[in-house]
Amino acid sequence: MSLSKPNRSAATLTTTRVEAAPISGICVTCLDGCEGPCEIGRSALKGREMIYPQPFGKITAGSDKEYPADFSHFSIQGTCVGAVGVEADPDVATFPAVDCATELGADGGIKLDFPVFTGAVGSTDIARINWEDMAVGAAISGVIIIAGENICGMDPQAEFSNGKISKSPEMERRVNAFKQWHDGKGGIIVQANVEDTKLGVPEYVIEKLGVEIFELKWGQGAKDIGGEVKLRSIERALQLKERGYIVLPDPTNPAAQQAFKLGGISEFERHSRLGMVDEEAFYKEAERLRSLGAKYVTLKTGAYRAADLARAIKYSSEAKIDLLTIDGAGGGTGMSPWRMMCEWGIPTVQLECLTYQMCERLKAKGAYIPPIAIAGGLSLEDHLFKAIALGAPYVKAICLGRALMTATMVGKTHGKLMAEKMELEGEDVEEGYQRLFAVGAELKERFGSDFAKLPPGAIGMYSYIDRMHQGLQQLMAGARKFALQHIDRNDLVALTREAADVSGIPYVMEQDLEEIDKILG
Ligand code: SF4
Repeated sequence: MSLSKPNRSAATLTTTRVEAAPISGICVTCLDGCEGPCEIGRSALKGREMIYPQPFGKITAGSDKEYPADFSHFSIQGTCVGAVGVEADPDVATFPAVDCATELGADGGIKLDFPVFTGAVGSTDIARINWEDMAVGAAISGVIIIAGENICGMDPQAEFSNGKISKSPEMERRVNAFKQWHDGKGGIIVQANVEDTKLGVPEYVIEKLGVEIFELKWGQGAKDIGGEVKLRSIERALQLKERGYIVLPDPTNPAAQQAFKLGGISEFERHSRLGMVDEEAFYKEAERLRSLGAKYVTLKTGAYRAADLARAIKYSSEAKIDLLTIDGAGGGTGMSPWRMMCEWGIPTVQLECLTYQMCERLKAKGAYIPPIAIAGGLSLEDHLFKAIALGAPYVKAICLGRALMTATMVGKTHGKLMAEKMELEGEDVEEGYQRLFAVGAELKERFGSDFAKLPPGAIGMYSYIDRMHQGLQQLMAGARKFALQHIDRNDLVALTREAADVSGIPYVMEQDLEEIDKILG
Protein backbone atom coordinates (compact mmCIF):
# COMPACT_ATOMS: atom_id res chain seq x y z
CA MET A 1 0.00 0.00 0.00
CA SER A 2 1.38 3.39 -0.98
CA LEU A 3 1.52 5.98 1.78
CA SER A 4 1.73 8.92 -0.63
CA LYS A 5 -0.36 10.51 -3.38
CA PRO A 6 2.08 11.98 -5.90
CA ASN A 7 1.11 14.03 -8.96
CA ARG A 8 -2.17 15.36 -7.56
CA SER A 9 -3.03 17.33 -4.47
CA ALA A 10 -5.26 20.10 -3.24
CA ALA A 11 -1.99 21.70 -2.07
CA THR A 12 -0.77 22.29 -5.62
CA LEU A 13 -4.28 22.66 -7.10
CA THR A 14 -3.68 19.61 -9.27
CA THR A 15 -5.66 16.51 -10.09
CA THR A 16 -5.53 13.56 -12.44
CA ARG A 17 -7.83 12.94 -15.41
CA VAL A 18 -8.59 9.34 -14.41
CA GLU A 19 -7.56 7.02 -11.58
CA ALA A 20 -3.89 7.42 -10.65
CA ALA A 21 -1.34 4.58 -10.64
CA PRO A 22 -0.48 4.10 -6.95
CA ILE A 23 3.28 4.60 -7.08
CA SER A 24 3.78 7.24 -9.81
CA GLY A 25 0.48 9.06 -9.38
CA ILE A 26 0.31 9.31 -13.18
CA CYS A 27 -3.10 8.48 -14.69
CA VAL A 28 -3.31 4.77 -15.45
CA THR A 29 -3.82 5.93 -19.04
CA CYS A 30 -2.05 9.21 -19.82
CA LEU A 31 -3.77 10.63 -22.89
CA ASP A 32 -1.95 12.50 -25.65
CA GLY A 33 -3.98 15.71 -25.95
CA CYS A 34 -4.84 16.02 -22.24
CA GLU A 35 -4.39 19.59 -21.01
CA GLY A 36 -2.52 18.22 -18.01
CA PRO A 37 -4.27 19.23 -14.77
CA CYS A 38 -1.83 16.99 -12.85
CA GLU A 39 1.38 18.17 -11.18
CA ILE A 40 3.56 16.93 -14.05
CA GLY A 41 1.28 18.60 -16.60
CA ARG A 42 1.24 21.93 -14.77
CA SER A 43 5.02 21.70 -14.38
CA ALA A 44 5.32 21.41 -18.16
CA LEU A 45 3.98 24.99 -18.28
CA LYS A 46 4.81 26.66 -14.98
CA GLY A 47 8.01 24.75 -14.15
CA ARG A 48 9.51 25.54 -10.73
CA GLU A 49 6.49 27.49 -9.57
CA MET A 50 4.73 24.13 -9.21
CA ILE A 51 7.08 23.01 -6.45
CA TYR A 52 5.12 24.98 -3.83
CA PRO A 53 1.59 24.82 -2.37
CA GLN A 54 -0.69 27.45 -3.85
CA PRO A 55 -1.80 30.21 -3.73
CA PHE A 56 1.18 31.62 -1.82
CA GLY A 57 0.32 34.10 0.92
CA LYS A 58 -3.27 32.94 1.29
CA ILE A 59 -2.87 29.37 2.55
CA THR A 60 -1.10 27.23 5.08
CA ALA A 61 -0.34 23.68 4.00
CA GLY A 62 0.11 20.35 5.78
CA SER A 63 1.44 17.07 4.43
CA ASP A 64 -1.14 14.55 3.17
CA LYS A 65 1.13 11.54 3.59
CA GLU A 66 -0.27 8.66 5.65
CA TYR A 67 2.53 7.72 8.03
CA PRO A 68 2.73 4.15 9.40
CA ALA A 69 2.01 5.36 12.95
CA ASP A 70 0.31 8.52 14.11
CA PHE A 71 -1.51 9.68 17.22
CA SER A 72 -4.72 7.92 16.16
CA HIS A 73 -2.88 4.65 16.74
CA PHE A 74 -3.00 5.27 20.48
CA SER A 75 -5.99 5.52 22.78
CA ILE A 76 -6.15 7.43 26.02
CA GLN A 77 -6.61 5.16 29.02
CA GLY A 78 -9.48 5.86 31.37
CA THR A 79 -10.04 4.49 34.84
CA CYS A 80 -12.83 4.50 37.38
CA VAL A 81 -10.49 4.35 40.33
CA GLY A 82 -9.03 7.26 42.31
CA ALA A 83 -7.73 10.70 41.38
CA VAL A 84 -4.13 11.95 41.04
CA GLY A 85 -3.36 15.49 42.13
CA VAL A 86 -6.61 16.11 43.95
CA GLU A 87 -8.68 14.47 46.68
CA ALA A 88 -10.48 11.38 45.36
CA ASP A 89 -13.90 12.77 46.22
CA PRO A 90 -16.57 13.13 43.51
CA ASP A 91 -17.39 16.61 44.81
CA VAL A 92 -13.76 17.72 44.57
CA ALA A 93 -12.38 15.74 41.63
CA THR A 94 -14.63 17.34 39.01
CA PHE A 95 -13.36 17.95 35.48
CA PRO A 96 -13.42 21.79 35.76
CA ALA A 97 -10.95 21.36 38.65
CA VAL A 98 -8.26 19.99 36.29
CA ASP A 99 -5.23 22.30 36.09
CA CYS A 100 -3.91 22.76 32.52
CA ALA A 101 -1.25 25.38 33.29
CA THR A 102 2.38 24.65 32.47
CA GLU A 103 5.84 26.11 33.08
CA LEU A 104 8.74 26.41 30.66
CA GLY A 105 12.28 27.68 31.16
CA ALA A 106 15.10 26.05 33.12
CA ASP A 107 13.83 27.94 36.19
CA GLY A 108 10.14 27.36 35.38
CA GLY A 109 9.80 31.11 34.97
CA ILE A 110 7.81 31.11 31.70
CA LYS A 111 4.25 30.47 32.87
CA LEU A 112 1.49 29.48 30.43
CA ASP A 113 -2.22 29.25 31.20
CA PHE A 114 -2.49 26.46 28.62
CA PRO A 115 0.30 24.24 27.22
CA VAL A 116 0.32 25.47 23.62
CA PHE A 117 2.14 28.01 21.50
CA THR A 118 2.11 29.16 17.91
CA GLY A 119 4.41 28.01 15.15
CA ALA A 120 6.96 30.45 13.83
CA VAL A 121 4.88 33.31 12.44
CA GLY A 122 7.54 34.67 10.14
CA SER A 123 8.01 36.51 6.88
CA THR A 124 5.47 34.79 4.61
CA ASP A 125 2.52 36.98 3.61
CA ILE A 126 0.02 34.88 5.53
CA ALA A 127 2.12 35.21 8.71
CA ARG A 128 2.57 38.96 8.31
CA ILE A 129 -1.13 39.60 7.56
CA ASN A 130 -2.38 37.57 10.54
CA TRP A 131 0.27 38.63 13.05
CA GLU A 132 -1.71 41.15 15.07
CA ASP A 133 -4.71 38.85 15.51
CA MET A 134 -2.44 35.98 16.56
CA ALA A 135 -0.25 38.05 18.87
CA VAL A 136 -3.24 39.53 20.69
CA GLY A 137 -4.91 36.09 20.77
CA ALA A 138 -1.79 34.61 22.38
CA ALA A 139 -1.51 37.46 24.89
CA ILE A 140 -5.12 37.22 26.09
CA SER A 141 -4.94 33.41 26.19
CA GLY A 142 -1.75 33.37 28.28
CA VAL A 143 0.27 31.40 25.72
CA ILE A 144 3.37 32.03 23.60
CA ILE A 145 3.65 33.51 20.12
CA ILE A 146 6.79 33.04 18.04
CA ALA A 147 8.04 35.67 15.60
CA GLY A 148 9.75 33.59 12.92
CA GLU A 149 12.84 34.08 10.79
CA ASN A 150 13.64 36.88 8.36
CA ILE A 151 11.16 39.48 9.65
CA CYS A 152 13.77 42.27 9.84
CA GLY A 153 15.53 41.23 6.63
CA MET A 154 12.22 41.22 4.73
CA ASP A 155 11.02 44.54 6.15
CA PRO A 156 10.87 46.99 3.20
CA GLN A 157 11.25 49.93 5.64
CA ALA A 158 14.18 48.41 7.55
CA GLU A 159 17.20 50.64 8.18
CA PHE A 160 20.75 49.31 8.31
CA SER A 161 23.99 50.63 9.69
CA ASN A 162 27.27 48.90 8.70
CA GLY A 163 25.28 45.93 7.43
CA LYS A 164 23.43 45.52 10.74
CA ILE A 165 19.78 46.23 11.38
CA SER A 166 19.25 49.52 13.23
CA LYS A 167 15.48 49.85 12.84
CA SER A 168 12.69 47.56 11.67
CA PRO A 169 9.18 49.03 11.88
CA GLU A 170 7.74 45.62 11.05
CA MET A 171 9.51 43.91 13.97
CA GLU A 172 8.49 46.79 16.26
CA ARG A 173 4.87 46.34 15.17
CA ARG A 174 5.08 42.64 15.94
CA VAL A 175 6.59 43.01 19.40
CA ASN A 176 4.30 45.89 20.39
CA ALA A 177 1.11 44.10 19.29
CA PHE A 178 1.86 41.36 21.81
CA LYS A 179 3.16 43.55 24.62
CA GLN A 180 0.10 45.83 24.59
CA TRP A 181 -2.13 42.95 25.67
CA HIS A 182 0.31 40.81 27.65
CA ASP A 183 -0.54 40.53 31.31
CA GLY A 184 2.04 38.16 32.69
CA LYS A 185 1.34 34.70 31.29
CA GLY A 186 2.76 33.45 28.01
CA GLY A 187 5.36 35.44 26.11
CA ILE A 188 6.87 36.38 22.78
CA ILE A 189 9.83 34.48 21.31
CA VAL A 190 11.88 35.84 18.40
CA GLN A 191 13.76 33.38 16.17
CA ALA A 192 17.00 33.83 14.28
CA ASN A 193 18.46 31.95 11.34
CA VAL A 194 21.73 32.45 9.44
CA GLU A 195 20.66 35.72 7.76
CA ASP A 196 19.08 37.13 10.94
CA THR A 197 22.27 36.48 12.88
CA LYS A 198 24.38 38.14 10.15
CA LEU A 199 22.06 41.16 10.20
CA GLY A 200 22.35 41.52 14.00
CA VAL A 201 18.67 40.72 14.72
CA PRO A 202 19.43 39.24 18.18
CA GLU A 203 21.19 42.42 19.32
CA TYR A 204 18.40 44.58 17.90
CA VAL A 205 15.40 42.76 19.41
CA ILE A 206 17.00 42.03 22.78
CA GLU A 207 18.72 45.35 23.40
CA LYS A 208 16.36 47.76 21.64
CA LEU A 209 12.96 46.05 21.77
CA GLY A 210 13.31 44.33 25.15
CA VAL A 211 12.57 40.80 23.90
CA GLU A 212 13.36 38.36 26.72
CA ILE A 213 13.06 34.97 25.01
CA PHE A 214 15.23 34.29 21.98
CA GLU A 215 15.18 31.17 19.82
CA LEU A 216 17.96 29.58 17.83
CA LYS A 217 16.59 27.69 14.87
CA TRP A 218 18.00 24.54 13.33
CA GLY A 219 14.95 23.73 11.27
CA GLN A 220 11.32 22.68 11.13
CA GLY A 221 9.21 19.66 10.28
CA ALA A 222 7.98 20.87 6.92
CA LYS A 223 11.40 21.24 5.27
CA ASP A 224 15.10 20.76 5.83
CA ILE A 225 16.24 23.87 4.01
CA GLY A 226 15.97 27.46 5.18
CA GLY A 227 12.87 29.65 5.06
CA GLU A 228 11.53 30.89 1.75
CA VAL A 229 8.89 33.21 0.36
CA LYS A 230 7.69 34.35 -3.06
CA LEU A 231 8.19 37.87 -4.36
CA ARG A 232 5.84 39.47 -6.83
CA SER A 233 7.88 42.42 -8.07
CA ILE A 234 11.32 42.71 -9.58
CA GLU A 235 12.11 45.70 -7.33
CA ARG A 236 11.49 43.59 -4.22
CA ALA A 237 13.54 40.73 -5.65
CA LEU A 238 16.44 43.12 -6.29
CA GLN A 239 16.15 44.65 -2.81
CA LEU A 240 16.37 41.27 -1.07
CA LYS A 241 19.22 40.07 -3.28
CA GLU A 242 21.02 43.25 -2.30
CA ARG A 243 20.44 42.40 1.38
CA GLY A 244 22.23 39.08 0.92
CA TYR A 245 19.41 36.61 0.35
CA ILE A 246 19.44 33.92 -2.33
CA VAL A 247 16.85 35.05 -4.91
CA LEU A 248 15.76 32.76 -7.77
CA PRO A 249 15.76 33.29 -10.67
CA ASP A 250 18.49 35.93 -10.36
CA PRO A 251 16.62 39.24 -10.82
CA THR A 252 19.77 40.88 -12.22
CA ASN A 253 19.83 38.34 -15.07
CA PRO A 254 18.36 39.88 -18.30
CA ALA A 255 16.71 36.54 -19.26
CA ALA A 256 14.90 36.43 -15.91
CA GLN A 257 13.83 40.06 -16.31
CA GLN A 258 12.49 39.29 -19.79
CA ALA A 259 10.63 36.17 -18.55
CA PHE A 260 9.03 38.25 -15.78
CA LYS A 261 8.07 41.02 -18.20
CA LEU A 262 6.40 38.62 -20.65
CA GLY A 263 4.65 36.59 -17.93
CA GLY A 264 6.57 33.32 -18.38
CA ILE A 265 7.40 33.64 -14.69
CA SER A 266 5.14 35.53 -12.33
CA GLU A 267 7.25 35.54 -9.20
CA PHE A 268 10.71 35.26 -7.71
CA GLU A 269 11.69 33.09 -4.75
CA ARG A 270 13.68 34.30 -1.75
CA HIS A 271 15.58 31.53 0.04
CA SER A 272 17.60 31.42 3.25
CA ARG A 273 20.91 29.67 3.70
CA LEU A 274 21.44 26.28 5.33
CA GLY A 275 22.58 26.46 8.93
CA MET A 276 25.73 24.52 9.88
CA VAL A 277 25.34 23.18 13.39
CA ASP A 278 28.53 23.04 15.43
CA GLU A 279 28.64 22.08 19.10
CA GLU A 280 31.08 24.68 20.36
CA ALA A 281 29.54 27.45 18.25
CA PHE A 282 26.12 26.55 19.67
CA TYR A 283 27.29 26.89 23.27
CA LYS A 284 29.01 30.18 22.45
CA GLU A 285 25.90 31.58 20.75
CA ALA A 286 23.66 30.61 23.68
CA GLU A 287 26.06 32.39 26.04
CA ARG A 288 26.31 35.41 23.74
CA LEU A 289 22.50 35.76 23.67
CA ARG A 290 22.42 35.62 27.47
CA SER A 291 25.15 38.22 27.68
CA LEU A 292 23.12 40.47 25.35
CA GLY A 293 20.30 40.29 27.89
CA ALA A 294 18.13 37.35 26.78
CA LYS A 295 16.48 35.97 29.90
CA TYR A 296 15.65 32.70 28.18
CA VAL A 297 17.28 30.96 25.20
CA THR A 298 15.36 28.28 23.33
CA LEU A 299 16.06 25.95 20.38
CA LYS A 300 13.81 24.71 17.61
CA THR A 301 14.86 21.72 15.58
CA GLY A 302 13.16 19.90 12.73
CA ALA A 303 12.48 16.34 11.63
CA TYR A 304 16.17 15.60 11.00
CA ARG A 305 17.77 12.17 11.31
CA ALA A 306 18.04 10.56 14.77
CA ALA A 307 21.68 11.54 15.27
CA ASP A 308 20.74 15.20 14.83
CA LEU A 309 17.96 14.78 17.39
CA ALA A 310 20.58 13.40 19.78
CA ARG A 311 22.70 16.50 19.08
CA ALA A 312 19.76 18.81 19.77
CA ILE A 313 18.95 17.11 23.09
CA LYS A 314 22.58 16.78 24.24
CA TYR A 315 23.60 20.33 23.31
CA SER A 316 20.40 21.74 24.84
CA SER A 317 21.14 19.85 28.02
CA GLU A 318 24.74 21.11 28.19
CA ALA A 319 23.74 24.71 27.37
CA LYS A 320 20.83 24.66 29.85
CA ILE A 321 18.43 25.67 27.09
CA ASP A 322 15.03 26.84 28.38
CA LEU A 323 12.83 25.09 25.83
CA LEU A 324 13.57 22.61 23.06
CA THR A 325 10.88 22.40 20.37
CA ILE A 326 11.02 19.27 18.22
CA ASP A 327 9.01 19.51 15.00
CA GLY A 328 8.09 16.25 13.27
CA ALA A 329 7.29 15.59 9.62
CA GLY A 330 3.61 15.87 8.80
CA GLY A 331 3.22 19.38 10.13
CA GLY A 332 2.50 22.60 8.35
CA THR A 333 3.96 25.68 6.81
CA GLY A 334 3.25 28.96 5.08
CA MET A 335 5.57 27.99 2.25
CA SER A 336 7.69 24.87 1.79
CA PRO A 337 8.32 22.67 -1.24
CA TRP A 338 5.30 20.36 -1.40
CA ARG A 339 7.09 17.11 -2.17
CA MET A 340 9.67 17.90 0.51
CA MET A 341 6.87 18.40 3.04
CA CYS A 342 5.51 14.97 2.23
CA GLU A 343 8.67 12.97 1.67
CA TRP A 344 11.41 14.12 4.03
CA GLY A 345 11.89 13.71 7.74
CA ILE A 346 10.93 11.56 10.70
CA PRO A 347 7.18 11.68 11.43
CA THR A 348 6.04 13.22 14.70
CA VAL A 349 5.17 10.06 16.66
CA GLN A 350 8.42 8.32 15.77
CA LEU A 351 10.45 11.46 16.47
CA GLU A 352 8.80 11.91 19.84
CA CYS A 353 9.46 8.28 20.77
CA LEU A 354 13.14 8.70 19.86
CA THR A 355 13.14 11.86 21.98
CA TYR A 356 11.77 9.97 24.95
CA GLN A 357 14.44 7.25 24.64
CA MET A 358 17.24 9.81 24.41
CA CYS A 359 15.96 11.85 27.36
CA GLU A 360 15.79 8.68 29.46
CA ARG A 361 19.45 7.95 28.64
CA LEU A 362 20.58 11.42 29.61
CA LYS A 363 18.44 11.46 32.73
CA ALA A 364 20.01 8.18 33.88
CA LYS A 365 23.34 10.04 33.84
CA GLY A 366 21.88 12.83 35.96
CA ALA A 367 21.86 15.35 33.11
CA TYR A 368 19.62 18.40 32.89
CA ILE A 369 16.70 17.78 30.50
CA PRO A 370 15.21 20.99 29.08
CA PRO A 371 11.43 21.41 28.91
CA ILE A 372 10.44 19.86 25.58
CA ALA A 373 7.65 20.85 23.18
CA ILE A 374 6.38 18.68 20.34
CA ALA A 375 5.14 19.99 17.00
CA GLY A 376 4.07 18.45 13.71
CA GLY A 377 0.45 18.00 12.68
CA LEU A 378 -1.28 18.37 16.05
CA SER A 379 -4.60 20.19 16.27
CA LEU A 380 -7.04 19.12 19.02
CA GLU A 381 -7.11 18.30 22.73
CA ASP A 382 -6.66 14.55 22.29
CA HIS A 383 -3.44 15.27 20.36
CA LEU A 384 -2.26 17.44 23.23
CA PHE A 385 -2.96 14.73 25.78
CA LYS A 386 -1.31 12.01 23.73
CA ALA A 387 1.78 14.04 22.85
CA ILE A 388 2.28 15.04 26.50
CA ALA A 389 1.77 11.43 27.65
CA LEU A 390 4.00 9.84 24.98
CA GLY A 391 6.96 12.03 25.96
CA ALA A 392 6.22 12.25 29.70
CA PRO A 393 7.71 13.52 31.92
CA TYR A 394 9.75 15.62 29.49
CA VAL A 395 7.10 17.13 27.19
CA LYS A 396 5.65 20.27 28.76
CA ALA A 397 3.93 21.98 25.83
CA ILE A 398 2.73 21.56 22.26
CA CYS A 399 3.42 23.82 19.30
CA LEU A 400 0.23 24.21 17.24
CA GLY A 401 1.47 25.85 14.05
CA ARG A 402 -1.38 25.59 11.58
CA ALA A 403 -4.21 25.00 14.05
CA LEU A 404 -3.89 28.31 15.91
CA MET A 405 -3.62 30.13 12.60
CA THR A 406 -6.76 28.41 11.30
CA ALA A 407 -8.81 29.54 14.31
CA THR A 408 -7.43 33.06 13.95
CA MET A 409 -8.24 33.30 10.23
CA VAL A 410 -11.80 32.02 10.72
CA GLY A 411 -12.39 34.47 13.58
CA LYS A 412 -11.04 37.26 11.40
CA THR A 413 -13.21 36.31 8.41
CA HIS A 414 -16.44 36.16 10.39
CA GLY A 415 -15.53 39.22 12.45
CA LYS A 416 -15.05 41.23 9.28
CA LEU A 417 -18.40 40.11 7.86
CA MET A 418 -20.15 40.87 11.14
CA ALA A 419 -18.54 44.32 11.39
CA GLU A 420 -19.66 45.16 7.83
CA LYS A 421 -23.20 43.99 8.57
CA MET A 422 -23.47 45.92 11.83
CA GLU A 423 -22.07 49.10 10.28
CA LEU A 424 -24.48 48.80 7.36
CA GLU A 425 -27.39 48.46 9.76
CA GLY A 426 -26.09 51.25 12.01
CA GLU A 427 -25.67 48.87 14.92
CA ASP A 428 -22.93 48.42 17.51
CA VAL A 429 -20.05 46.24 16.22
CA GLU A 430 -19.14 45.24 19.80
CA GLU A 431 -22.58 43.80 20.26
CA GLY A 432 -22.20 41.96 16.96
CA TYR A 433 -19.01 40.32 18.23
CA GLN A 434 -20.82 39.25 21.38
CA ARG A 435 -23.48 37.64 19.21
CA LEU A 436 -20.91 36.01 16.95
CA PHE A 437 -18.44 34.59 19.46
CA ALA A 438 -19.38 32.26 22.32
CA VAL A 439 -16.65 33.91 24.39
CA GLY A 440 -17.67 37.46 23.36
CA ALA A 441 -19.61 38.37 26.50
CA GLU A 442 -16.90 36.89 28.73
CA LEU A 443 -14.19 38.95 27.01
CA LYS A 444 -16.38 42.06 27.14
CA GLU A 445 -16.64 41.62 30.90
CA ARG A 446 -12.88 41.07 31.18
CA PHE A 447 -11.75 43.97 28.99
CA GLY A 448 -14.59 46.49 29.28
CA SER A 449 -14.25 49.30 26.76
CA ASP A 450 -11.01 47.74 25.40
CA PHE A 451 -13.10 44.84 24.09
CA ALA A 452 -13.78 46.94 21.00
CA LYS A 453 -10.04 47.03 20.25
CA LEU A 454 -9.65 43.24 20.17
CA PRO A 455 -9.01 42.02 16.63
CA PRO A 456 -11.70 39.40 15.81
CA GLY A 457 -9.02 36.88 14.84
CA ALA A 458 -7.67 37.14 18.40
CA ILE A 459 -11.14 36.32 19.74
CA GLY A 460 -11.29 33.31 17.39
CA MET A 461 -7.93 32.06 18.65
CA TYR A 462 -8.96 32.60 22.29
CA SER A 463 -12.24 30.76 21.66
CA TYR A 464 -10.47 27.77 20.11
CA ILE A 465 -7.98 27.58 23.00
CA ASP A 466 -10.89 27.87 25.46
CA ARG A 467 -12.60 24.93 23.75
CA MET A 468 -9.40 22.83 23.87
CA HIS A 469 -8.95 23.81 27.51
CA GLN A 470 -12.26 22.24 28.47
CA GLY A 471 -11.71 19.29 26.13
CA LEU A 472 -8.32 18.56 27.73
CA GLN A 473 -9.77 18.93 31.22
CA GLN A 474 -12.37 16.30 30.32
CA LEU A 475 -9.80 13.87 28.92
CA MET A 476 -7.55 14.35 31.95
CA ALA A 477 -10.42 13.90 34.38
CA GLY A 478 -11.30 10.67 32.57
CA ALA A 479 -7.74 9.49 33.14
CA ARG A 480 -7.99 10.80 36.74
CA LYS A 481 -5.02 13.12 36.25
CA PHE A 482 -5.77 16.57 37.70
CA ALA A 483 -2.64 18.44 36.61
CA LEU A 484 -0.44 18.14 33.51
CA GLN A 485 2.59 16.90 35.42
CA HIS A 486 0.66 13.78 36.43
CA ILE A 487 0.04 12.63 32.85
CA ASP A 488 2.37 9.74 32.05
CA ARG A 489 2.97 7.02 29.48
CA ASN A 490 0.68 4.64 31.36
CA ASP A 491 -2.20 6.88 30.26
CA LEU A 492 -1.85 5.53 26.72
CA VAL A 493 -2.43 2.19 25.06
CA ALA A 494 -1.28 1.20 21.56
CA LEU A 495 -3.97 0.04 19.15
CA THR A 496 -1.56 -1.47 16.62
CA ARG A 497 1.56 -3.61 16.95
CA GLU A 498 3.47 -1.02 14.91
CA ALA A 499 2.58 1.75 17.37
CA ALA A 500 3.50 -0.51 20.29
CA ASP A 501 6.89 -1.36 18.69
CA VAL A 502 7.66 2.28 17.91
CA SER A 503 6.70 3.60 21.33
CA GLY A 504 7.13 0.86 23.90
CA ILE A 505 3.54 1.60 24.98
CA PRO A 506 1.76 -1.74 25.65
CA TYR A 507 -0.42 -3.21 22.93
CA VAL A 508 -4.09 -3.00 23.85
CA MET A 509 -4.42 -6.75 24.51
CA GLU A 510 -1.30 -6.84 26.69
CA GLN A 511 -1.88 -3.99 29.13
CA ASP A 512 -2.28 -4.13 32.91
CA LEU A 513 -1.20 -7.80 32.98
CA GLU A 514 0.28 -7.75 36.49
CA GLU A 515 -2.66 -5.88 37.95
CA ILE A 516 -5.11 -8.24 36.30
CA ASP A 517 -3.26 -11.18 37.87
CA LYS A 518 -3.45 -9.53 41.27
CA ILE A 519 -7.17 -8.88 40.89
CA LEU A 520 -8.10 -12.27 39.50
CA GLY A 521 -5.59 -14.28 41.50
S1 SF4 B 1 -1.40 14.73 -18.52
FE1 SF4 B 1 -3.58 14.32 -18.17
S2 SF4 B 1 -3.82 12.13 -18.60
FE2 SF4 B 1 -1.62 12.50 -18.36
S3 SF4 B 1 -1.22 12.06 -16.18
FE3 SF4 B 1 -1.64 14.26 -16.34
S4 SF4 B 1 -3.85 14.44 -15.96
FE4 SF4 B 1 -3.44 12.31 -16.43
